[in-house]
Amino acid sequence: MQCRALTSERKRCTAESSNGGEYCTAHRDEMERLIGKRADAAPSRWRSWWARIVSPGVGIPDGAKYDVPGWLKDAPTPQVIQHLQTHSDSMARWMSAFVLRKRRAAEAFDALWRTRQTDGIRFVRQQSAVALGKIGVPAVYAPLVEGLHHDPDPGVREACVIALGNLGNPTAVDEIVRALEREENVFARWDCIVALGQLADQRVEKLLRRLEAEEIAQVLREACRDALAEIRQREGQNSN
Ligand SMILES: [Zn+2]
Repeated sequence: MQCRALTSERKRCTAESSNGGEYCTAHRDEMERLIGKRADAAPSRWRSWWARIVSPGVGIPDGAKYDVPGWLKDAPTPQVIQHLQTHSDSMARWMSAFVLRKRRAAEAFDALWRTRQTDGIRFVRQQSAVALGKIGVPAVYAPLVEGLHHDPDPGVREACVIALGNLGNPTAVDEIVRALEREENVFARWDCIVALGQLADQRVEKLLRRLEAEEIAQVLREACRDALAEIRQREGQNSN
């Protein structure tokens, strides 16, 4: 299996994973710390994230509905994964990603990652990013960060940052700040700011205050104000 870590360029590592694990020898320790694979090794502020992610039955809520035709809806997961990767109709690939998303099919992780990277149709890449977010295992952090930095379509970058905000992994804060520094699309910027509010890291208060003063679009100034309020509210809760 290919290593599930990212390089310093935030692209998937091309090395083989070691000993049947998820990461190559060069990345194993770093990634297990980064995504909190070992709760005991993770910094204390990550523990609540880890507890939520691994608690059975507690996933990111997903109210989305779509009327998927029976040939796909009732297909076994390996077949749906096959359709995602090979079907000639982009709508069928989109629906395959949707089905895998609703099933929270962790076995589709690699196929969804590859589809997010390579499918020529942006809606298919976007649905794959959403599906990764709903699967919600700690390892989805890497494909979402990669998509946030590298997908050419702002709608896909939005899907990635929304998922990172919902997942609540505090490590994502630095990546989102980095993305915000060069993101030009207003909607994607908006979602980055919302996600920073959700992740509620005090270190970004200064940045948000600056953006609140400088952003040209009113919706972005308002998003900064809301995010700052959310961070302060969380601080209040944590100090109680
Ligand atoms: Zn690696």
